[in-house]
Amino acid sequence: MTKFRYDDLTWVEVRDAAAAKKAILVPIGSIEDHGPHLPLNTDNIIVEAVCFEVARRAPDEILSLPVLPVGFEDHHMDYPGSLTSSMETLLTFFADAAISVARHGFTHIMLVNGHGSNSSLVELAARKAVLQTGMIVGAMAGNAAVDDVLIRDLIAQHRKSAHGGIGHACEFETAMMLYLRPDLVQMDRAAREMGVPDLKYFNWDHPKPAAYAWMDWWSRFSKTGIAGDPTVATREFGERMFNATVERMIELLREFKQIPIKPRRDMH
Ligand SMILES: [Zn+2]
Repeated sequence: MTKFRYDDLTWVEVRDAAAAKKAILVPIGSIEDHGPHLPLNTDNIIVEAVCFEVARRAPDEILSLPVLPVGFEDHHMDYPGSLTSSMETLLTFFADAAISVARHGFTHIMLVNGHGSNSSLVELAARKAVLQTGMIVGAMAGNAAVDDVLIRDLIAQHRKSAHGGIGHACEFETAMMLYLRPDLVQMDRAAREMGVPDLKYFNWDHPKPAAYAWMDWWSRFSKTGIAGDPTVATREFGERMFNATVERMIELLREFKQIPIKPRRDMH
């Protein structure tokens, strides 16, 4: 069986994988409170499972790193548990992961973010890696964060919660965990809490994107750490969203791999 996990390879196999022009996934997550019913490693479990499954189904084309498990969490530190690091350190670290892979000859690298508050850092890290290496380095969301457009239509079609029900430790994340790690979900402790303002120009949930960015201290709008409605989450919804994400990501990466690396031109 072809290996799909980057760090399972030997250095000889890495050299062959680069020659075979495999795309590399870099899942990025967080250790963060996810309400009283989900574990701190919720983001890490979801984004790594998605990336590993993508690579497992297309191992001749794609390899995945294990998850980089720490993200930006300063605004969550009022709840016990989260690990955080500075924006500057994380930007450097996320970029360094992509730059390391590029130095071994991989040309197409995708940073896959599983924690909403990493999104701007992950996007900047991808840009930094492009400018530093000349390789094609992209950034995308691998969960239902507000910047995720991959399965937005399917979420709208199959969700049970009302608008505001998908945000954090919500219907989506709880359903994904009921599918991936039901042993870690305590549904009897799940609660509905919709504290994020639902305004004309600002909200978190699909399909109404916010016209501006704003992130408050979490303890100022959530008592439980939940933003949304996990009480209606089902394993079936999670399984459907997981498989749809994996299928569309494989299609996305096949397109991404076709982006050519063109020479720069000095127009002075
Ligand atoms: Zn999460």
